[in-house]
Amino acid sequence: MSESHNRRIVLAARPKGLPSPANFRIEETAIPEPGDGQILLRILYLSLDPYMRGRMDDAESYALPVELGGVMEGGTVAKVVESRHPGFSPGEIVLSHSGWQSWAISDGTGLRKLDPAAAPVSTALGVLGMPGFTAYAGLLSIGQPKPGETVVVAAASGPVGSAVGQIARIKGARAVGILGGPGKLAFVRDELEFDAVIDHRAEDFEAQLKQACPAGVDIYFENVGGRVWDAVLPLLNDHARIPVCGLISQYNQSGPFPGPDRLPLVMRKILTKSLTVRGFIQREFVDQRPAFYAQMAAWIAAGRVRYREDIVDGLDKAPEAFIGMLQGHNFGKLVVRVSPE
Ligand code: NDP
Repeated sequence: MSESHNRRIVLAARPKGLPSPANFRIEETAIPEPGDGQILLRILYLSLDPYMRGRMDDAESYALPVELGGVMEGGTVAKVVESRHPGFSPGEIVLSHSGWQSWAISDGTGLRKLDPAAAPVSTALGVLGMPGFTAYAGLLSIGQPKPGETVVVAAASGPVGSAVGQIARIKGARAVGILGGPGKLAFVRDELEFDAVIDHRAEDFEAQLKQACPAGVDIYFENVGGRVWDAVLPLLNDHARIPVCGLISQYNQSGPFPGPDRLPLVMRKILTKSLTVRGFIQREFVDQRPAFYAQMAAWIAAGRVRYREDIVDGLDKAPEAFIGMLQGHNFGKLVVRVSPE
């Protein structure tokens, strides 16, 4: 990496279906200079998250799309290199939203200072950051697990799903994790100590799920949709809660969805089983963030929540790693190390 330039990755073309490397372009620009009231940030870590797929489309959504030629959006952990802002000093580490680039300017808005002695700073993008908070807020506020209940979650080795299952267990519920591949399966079963784990690619996935939920499903934390949703639907108990957090199996779908319209069946289930289906975007629970930071740090310190990071070296690798994540190639919270700490 050239230290004398800012490297950045921009959206070169909007994808149809699964993105390809041609949808991204790497550019070099001059390192920006901070003006009065600004700071210069050197990016250490970039978070890669499923929501970024939505930002590549210009369809209407809860957030604006990245413009063509614009820097790809993303959460980052950065070091203050130069400060002309009274609230920040060189050497401080902050959580910022600086996107897919190696240097950035900030006026301090929305930055959160991180304490490197408290936790590895990369965790501010994962278990102690937005994905961990998504699990915490969605499960506790919408799912409301009770002792003895069964909680099902897919993408269970990732930062959201792994936290959902572990928090469910802390609350006395049974955690059933769905994931792809034997390595992830062993990790979630043996390290995260979920009560049952199932590979969604197994031919008899539906039968395995039924067997793993002998008392039905009380909370389905929806991360993926598709085949997993179809398999969970018949297992839902009366008054089951379904926090709808993500639908990653659909993110690359362009055009109409294939297959018969199952909405009438779903609506009938919602009615006859008195289901609560509640979509959410984590930021609506912003008031709970201070409680989350304290509680999650305590759970990690006590060994009650464990996490795994998948760290990829070099900004240039971001497009390939991101495309891989949409296909389940990541194993743990996907983070790009943009420059050494
Ligand atoms: P992960 O790091 O777990 O990565 C995504 C994982 O999804 C893949 O590794 C893969 O895991 C799984 N996956 C991909 N395609 C499919 C498929 N067709 N069927 C089943 N599983 C699939 O992601 P995160 O933990 O960051 O995010 C999980 C979900 O939470 C996403 O849907 C995301 O959009 C959502 N989210 C929502 C937020 C909100 O505010 N509502 C905030 C943050 C995240 P595997 O190999 O195990 O199948």
